[in-house]
Amino acid sequence: MLLDLHMHSYYSVDGKGSLDRFIQNLHHVPIQFCSLTDHNTQAHHEALHKLTKAFPEIGGKLIYGIELSCQHSEFPTNEIHILAYWKNKEAPASFSGLNQLIENIQDTSQRRFDMLLENFDQRNDILSYWEKYKREILHPSIRRHPFILTLYNRSLTGSQFDHFRNKRKSLLNELILKNDGLSYPAPSEVIHTIKNAAGVSILAHPLRYNFEQAQLIALIEEFKNFGLEGLEVNDFEVQQYCERFELVATKGSDNHNLDNFGTLSHLNDLQEHFNPYAFLALLNANS
Ligand SMILES: [Zn+2]
Ligand SMILES: [Zn+2]
Repeated sequence: MLLDLHMHSYYSVDGKGSLDRFIQNLHHVPIQFCSLTDHNTQAHHEALHKLTKAFPEIGGKLIYGIELSCQHSEFPTNEIHILAYWKNKEAPASFSGLNQLIENIQDTSQRRFDMLLENFDQRNDILSYWEKYKREILHPSIRRHPFILTLYNRSLTGSQFDHFRNKRKSLLNELILKNDGLSYPAPSEVIHTIKNAAGVSILAHPLRYNFEQAQLIALIEEFKNFGLEGLEVNDFEVQQYCERFELVATKGSDNHNLDNFGTLSHLNDLQEHFNPYAFLALLNANS
């Protein structure tokens, strides 16, 4: 079975591919199930739903997804991502708790950005190249545009932006530790909200947070107690955690550039123990 349950379109702040391109590519790849899991938004669901009316053969392959940001109080600078899935688009849109959660995350994201810029100005980190910046403003991301426009309106140009991007992580971590208002919701809140919205919650890319093994295992157990239902598995270690904690497994490329569907082919090589049917059964049970 060929499937990819974790991809991003230009509805993500850092995604590049258009939905038209996504649908076009779907016609060329013999994929059975796929999900666009844009960051902290449901905007892509409405757009995808419209496209599936024009291309009904694609509807059966689509799983509606979102990737939500959260923050554990013990590891505040380590952003954790929880994937949420539904069988149809009406499901997530109809839960006000989920809509409110997404709105809160988006507000926090905007506050983080504003605060970063403020602190950049104060530090006088000023440089200027226009060309690279121009490429950024033309970046085909619907969600990125307001951020870039803010930079533009504040006359921050080219290399300032590069500099901003390079220093963003360390400065952001400093700011998060000092300001409660920059916190994303806790994993417990995100997992509960997904459950209340009849979604399936999956911990995205568990090995990418750089937790020590014992720490990761403790977190998985904690999340499972909150109601987490599965782990995104791209290697044997995480597969073992699925078995140990009786969590379902999903697979995804986390592809942020939908132009390149070639990266999907490696998913054909599913590990011996990987069984996507448990996830699909959960998804069907919830809808
Ligand atoms: Zn992620
Ligand atoms: Zn992702």
